[in-house]
Amino acid sequence: MERLQKVIAKSGVTSRRKAEMYITEGRVKVNGKTVTELGTKVSPSDRVEVDQIELEKEEPVYYMVNKPRGVISAVKDDKDRKVVTDLLPEEIEERLFPVGRLDYDTSGLLLLTNDGEFTQRLIHPKYQMDKVYVAKVNGLVSKEELTKLKKGIVDQGERLKCVKARIIDSNVKKGKEVKEGKSIVELTLHQGKNRQVRRMFEALGYRVEKLKRDRFGSLSLGNLPTGEYRKLTPHEVKQLI
Ligand code: URA
Repeated sequence: MERLQKVIAKSGVTSRRKAEMYITEGRVKVNGKTVTELGTKVSPSDRVEVDQIELEKEEPVYYMVNKPRGVISAVKDDKDRKVVTDLLPEEIEERLFPVGRLDYDTSGLLLLTNDGEFTQRLIHPKYQMDKVYVAKVNGLVSKEELTKLKKGIVDQGERLKCVKARIIDSNVKKGKEVKEGKSIVELTLHQGKNRQVRRMFEALGYRVEKLKRDRFGSLSLGNLPTGEYRKLTPHEVKQLI
């Protein structure tokens, strides 16, 4: 979301100052309604008109990034920490924002786009989008405990569940060394509640030491290195929605 006067100025119609004047003079419409409030925020999918002429819209674009840990899933941070849009080169001029979010300490697949409708669709629970996470957990998780996660646990009044769960590895090996008492577990979620995977394991008494998202709907990270990005193909975009 961006301020209306900024969006008008960016489209090249006029300066930001004049855009403010146009707004207060009632010459600007958003989705067919006159807007005179200067603080109004609009998203890229909103239709903005100045003197009955529609602003040219940005072409929708879609990227995936392999977010490293220690990066915020936002376009700006008050504490000046690194944000996901910093992973893309400056030549990309579109106003991108993330589709949903991954925690600061979670790595993996995150989509970035300027298409608000696409975003709303993908994050709406009704679309039951698979989100596949791989968690390293400090303990030996049992199959019975995974069944509990599939049935659902209640945390802070919210029912949290996964649709699939499997143990990939236990007593994780590191080179020749066996690190006892650790498990690697894959969970598939349809929900997207705050810190969901971490909270689900915490409810069983475990701590998630590392968390990565490998898949979002039909898209997998593949061999995209951590910190890198790539554009989605039109076919991949169609498959998602
Ligand atoms: N679950 C979490 O706990 N964190 C994430 O970033 C995503 C899912």
